[in-house]
Amino acid sequence: MITLRNVTKSYQTSTRPALDNVSVDIGKGEFVFVIGPSGSGKSTFMSLLLKDETPTSGEVWVADFRVDKLPGRKVPHLRQRMGCVFQDFRLLQQKTVEQNVAFALEVIGKSRAFINRSVPEALDMVGLAGKADRLPGELSGGEQQRVALARAFVNRPLVLLADEPTGNLDPETSQDIMTLLERINRTGTTVVMATHDNTIVDAMRRRVVELDRGRIVRDDEMGVYGVGR
Ligand code: ADP
Ligand code: ADP
Repeated sequence: MITLRNVTKSYQTSTRPALDNVSVDIGKGEFVFVIGPSGSGKSTFMSLLLKDETPTSGEVWVADFRVDKLPGRKVPHLRQRMGCVFQDFRLLQQKTVEQNVAFALEVIGKSRAFINRSVPEALDMVGLAGKADRLPGELSGGEQQRVALARAFVNRPLVLLADEPTGNLDPETSQDIMTLLERINRTGTTVVMATHDNTIVDAMRRRVVELDRGRIVRDDEMGVYGVGR
């Protein structure tokens, strides 16, 4: 589902590459944690998958898309197959819960019938059917992240990217978000989650790809956050 082949990303302003000759394969339906200290390249890794950034060299594949060579006009096709959630939720504050989720489908031209069917399903999945008419500001952090998850999942993406999705949440709420990510993963969606949360990584025992200064220094099936540290 995701392949990086000898990918190097150097930003113009920095001397050391953010990613340095990274190669990795992630299969359909996998759940992968990307860990590593601040500045190790996790966000850059995510940005390359979305074509927010272009690699300096190497190949990036997501599904059948050759992402690094994808012309700008085709980037929306790629992004339609991917869902994203972030540490800071990124909801539209002036839209209701339901409107936030519906908007993700409106901008890609889905029919009203499809939207009217899919949005309640997605809100149901994250346990927010009863709060469809609330504004994000009226919700707790955990609830806002659940709205973001509903929005990311409503179009049944092939890949869900989660960049520190529990970074602003307390441990109990974080666990709820992980339960939802697992549920999404069980539908066949490939999940890639960048995180610093050692408790979560250790509890989940999923694949762990560890970055350090732009290189993959560990890739464990059913890994833990820190080995021998
Ligand atoms: P992480 O997400 O693990 O903290 P990043 O991918 O954000 O790591 O950063 C990796 C390296 O690339 C760091 O040295 C960072 O300073 C640098 N970097 C990230 N984004 C940019 C950018 N837009 N311009 C210049 N340097 C950047
Ligand atoms: P408005 O009068 O502001 O257009 P609507 O209730 O018609 O308010 O729609 C608000 C948003 O909620 C719209 O973006 C629409 O896509 C979405 N929406 C409306 N009805 C449903 C529904 N039954 N299921 C899912 N989404 C809906």
